[in-house]
This record gives sequence, structure tokens and C-alpha cells, in this order.
Amino acid sequence: MKLKTRIHVFTTLLMFFILAGLSIGIYFLFEKMTYERQAGQLMARGEKLTAELNEIAPADANMVIRAYMPPDGALHIIGADERVIRKVESDSRLRNFTAEPSGNGPYTITDIKGVPAVTVAMPFISTGGEVAELRITQLADDIAHELSLLRLILTGLTAAAMIPVIVSSVALGRIVTRPINVLTGTMRENREKGAYEKIDEGHGRDELHEMALAYNDMMDQLGRNYEKQERFVSDASHELKTPITVIESYARLLKRRGFDDRNVADEAVGAILSQAVRMKELTAQLLDLARSDRAAAYSFKQADIRDIAEETVRPMRQAYGREFVVEGPEKLLADTDPDKLRQLLFILLDNARKYSDGDVRLALEKTDGRVELSVADHGPGIPEADLPHLFDRFYRVNSDRNRKTGGTGLGLALAKEIADGLGAELTVESVIGVGTVFRICFASSRPKRHHAVTE
Ligand code: ADP
Repeated sequence: MKLKTRIHVFTTLLMFFILAGLSIGIYFLFEKMTYERQAGQLMARGEKLTAELNEIAPADANMVIRAYMPPDGALHIIGADERVIRKVESDSRLRNFTAEPSGNGPYTITDIKGVPAVTVAMPFISTGGEVAELRITQLADDIAHELSLLRLILTGLTAAAMIPVIVSSVALGRIVTRPINVLTGTMRENREKGAYEKIDEGHGRDELHEMALAYNDMMDQLGRNYEKQERFVSDASHELKTPITVIESYARLLKRRGFDDRNVADEAVGAILSQAVRMKELTAQLLDLARSDRAAAYSFKQADIRDIAEETVRPMRQAYGREFVVEGPEKLLADTDPDKLRQLLFILLDNARKYSDGDVRLALEKTDGRVELSVADHGPGIPEADLPHLFDRFYRVNSDRNRKTGGTGLGLALAKEIADGLGAELTVESVIGVGTVFRICFASSRPKRHHAVTE
């Protein structure tokens, strides 16, 4: 059964049962109260009659009984053995009626040709000193009429109330299922077209709006990931083509000429090795790039930035025998992902080392809740025209000049992705002949994450 139909059927049935239950309750309450009222009146009449019968002479009994006879009623005096001592009636419909002894309740109702008759009974000592029972019966035409009118009104009211219930349950079904249908339709279309279409988020602040937001966020992320994957595949195949071609052509050369010519063999093996190393570096960086923007890959905590800086430069000093100067406060606490920040600093410090000869400076600073880390060198600098492209993948300034450094052109692209993941700004300033400064700037404390969905 469709969700819309289920909502419709469930709310309609529920409301029907509530209304029908209420109506039935009201009906029976009214019926009970009316019969009780009538029985009360008959009891009062009976009590007065028994009191009078005790006081008057037996000859006047008939007259008194007639005086207390209810209209449309009957009066029975029943002896101990259920023998009818006296019976009088004021309505022909009760001529053949004999009042039954009352059951558990204070009154009994008997059906006389479709009309209810209320009978009450009370003990009574007859003039002859015999224990008897007085049973007074009255036909309740007016009650029967009132009850049938009440049945009609309640049925009519229930039916009338069901109309808005049905209309609102249909509307409710539509309100709930419309966005689901839109979502399903968009998902189906996206699957068929291989697209990442979003849905209208609407203006409400309800759960359906949250669902649309969550779906659109997911589409955004899927789209970004797909683009990234495509770019990764095309970048990887493009960049790996050159070293593979070089390796292939040297391998063919070795196959053709064998190892007889020592010089050729040395050159071929050397080239194959260097291209293999380059390919290894390339694939490692490409994989890093592909993974770098996954939110789950970052885990933030409070850390001492000075410690991170020192830990990053220490192995570099040893490996390259170069001076890496760390400047700034001895302790600088901030929220970050220490591993990712170390990776980012390493890329910048390694570039500064590769593209300059002198000291490399890493300065730390904290102002107004922001932390700034700058990596400065006194290298040849980067031409202004190249600066806007520096963070593009595979972009290299003056490739020929940089070939000897063995770079891939992926370092700064990766640095930018990591900076984005860390919520940091990465900028560069460079003056030809003076040097280059890369700056990483981020808030020292991260705002607490809050969930969009409100309960
Ligand atoms: P790679 O260093 O592997 O070539 P990067 O993306 O790290 O790739 O750098 C891109 C280019 O930016 C480098 O080829 C180099 O020309 C230039 N570059 C990066 N850092 C510096 C620097 N500190 N000084 C001068 N040039 C730099």
C-alpha cells in the first residue's frame, strides 16, 4: 500500500473510531439518564400509592389506584407466589402485559410492540396483611422518539465531521509524500542521466526542509568527489604517460642492443630508475591529493604549534644540513590536525629548500585569535604572472629550470587542499631576486560543530 494511502486510511479510520465511540458513548449515557429519570418518577408515584393504600379502606383501593395510575401505563399488585392480585392499565397496548419481576437493576425495560415500557417494583403489605409487590409500568413513547432523534443527529454529525477529516487526511498524505516523490524522481533522473541534480529546498524550517538540505549536501559532495576522481584519473594518466614512455623506450633500447654497450646500458638503467622514482613520487602525491578533502581524514585537537614546527624542521636540518630557523613564541596553542599541519609545513619548507640556497625561516605568530605561520626564503622569487597559477595541479614555474629539482608540480596543489581541510588560508608573496613567503593563517580555536537538524 502506498504511503499516501496508508496515511489516508489510518487517519480516516482513527478519526472515525474516535467519533463513533464518542457518539455511542453520548447515546448510551443519554439513554441511561432518561430511563433513570422515568424510573425515578414511577418510584415516587409508587411510594405515594403504597403509603395511601395502607391508610385507606380496602373499598377505596380501586379509586386510589386509578388516581396514581401513570398515563400510558399499567399497575400490577403481585402476590408472594407471583399471583396477580390486581392489574389495572390505562393503555390498551398493555392489556395482555404482565410485569415481570425486576432483575438486578432498579427498573426493567420491556419491548411492547416496538415501544419500550419502563417497569419499577417495590414491596408492599396489602390490606389483607399479605406481602405483595407493586409493579408500575409506563410506556416510554417520548423517550423512544427522543432516542431515535438523537441517533439520527449523532449519525449525521459523525458523517459531517468525517468530511473534513477525509479532506485533511488526503492533504496530509500529499504534504508528506510530495517531497518524497520529488526526491525519488530526482534520484531516478540522476541515476539515469548520471547527473547530480539538486532538489528545491523550500522555505519552511521543517523536517522535509532538513531532508532536502541533507540530500543536496550529499549531492554536492558526490559531485565534488566524482569531479575529483575524474580529474585524478585524467591527471594521473597524463602525468604517468611521460615516465612510462621513457621507461618503455629505454627498455626497448636495452632489448635491441642488449648489455653489450656498457654506456648505453648505464644510461638506460639510470633513466629507468629515475623515472620509476618519479612515478612513485607522483602516484604517492596523487593519492594524497585524492584523499585530502575527505572530512573524516581530519581530526582536530588542541596542539602546540611550536612543537609541530620544531618536529617538522628537525629531520630536515639533519637530512639536508641546511639552517631552518623557527621564530616566535615558545608555546602557541591552537586547534588543528597536527599530522596534516606537519604535512603542509613540510611541503612549504621543502620547496623553500629546493628553490633557494640560504636559510629558511619559519615564523609563528598569534594575533586576535588567529595564528599565522610563514615560511620565508631568500631564493630567486616567483614572477608575478605565475603567482595566480601556483596552486594549480602540475603547474611549475619555468619547468626547464626546475627539472633538476625533480618536482611534480603537485606539492602546492596538495598544500592548498590540506589548508582548505584545516580551515586555513594559504597565501604567497614573492619578489624576484629577494625571496618568497608562504603564509598559513587560521583561527586558533574552532567553533563547536552544531547539527542542522533540530529535534
Ligand atoms: P614542485 O615543487 O613539485 O615543482 P610545487 O607545486 O610544490 O611543485 O611548486 C610549484 C612551482 O612553484 C615549483 O615548480 C616552483 O617553480 C614554484 N615554487 C614553489 N615554491 C617556491 C619557492 N619557495 N621559491 C620559488 N619558487 C617556488
